Amino acid sequence: MTSKPKTKVTFYNGLTTIGGPMIEVAYDKSHVLFDLGEVYRPELGLKMEDEDFATLLKYQLIGDVPDFYDPKVTGKEIDHERWEHSAAYISHLHLDHSKAMNLLAPEIPLYAGPLTAALLPVLNRDGEFLLPAADKPKNYTRPIIAAKLNEPIHVGDITLTVVPSDHDAYGATGLIVKTPDKTIVHTGDIRLHGYHPDWVRKFMAAGEGCDMLIIEGTG
Ligand SMILES: [Zn+2]
Repeated sequence: MTSKPKTKVTFYNGLTTIGGPMIEVAYDKSHVLFDLGEVYRPELGLKMEDEDFATLLKYQLIGDVPDFYDPKVTGKEIDHERWEHSAAYISHLHLDHSKAMNLLAPEIPLYAGPLTAALLPVLNRDGEFLLPAADKPKNYTRPIIAAKLNEPIHVGDITLTVVPSDHDAYGATGLIVKTPDKTIVHTGDIRLHGYHPDWVRKFMAAGEGCDMLIIEGTG
């Protein structure tokens, strides 16, 4: 007899830093990752060209997340037998939530709100915003799927719902993750003192009663 699958949440980065959260929610053969930013550490004095994968891991600028990054970057294959369904999401376009998105394996779909999906390739048109993808021109931006707001996205056993939120980045969204046994809410960066507190309150109402609330804080 095999035991019933359970939801597993793993924090790979962002617990002790301002920004840079990388969190995996897994259930049976499905898993999702959010966000894909780089922790901001200007004191290291690193230039973009210094930021190879080993350096990013060494300074914990990104999480050491298995089975999501491009094997051309990590040198390690993705275990597609273990994981039949994979997806990733970024909440907004700030670098501590988006800069590492080109490191995601090309075959794994990446979702974001429609404004975030439209703006990131423009911000990266000179190749000075995002970390580069393997074997691509410096100004390449990997495909981002513009999620329809408030509509469920199915990733195997996991459902993602991207909802409008408010932050000082245009198009910021939050995420509601549902597995067969748990509901997890990921706020990304969030504020109630901006232009759309009503959107944030609606988001919180949609996530009310969740089993886990993952919220950003800078205190
Ligand atoms: Zn932000």
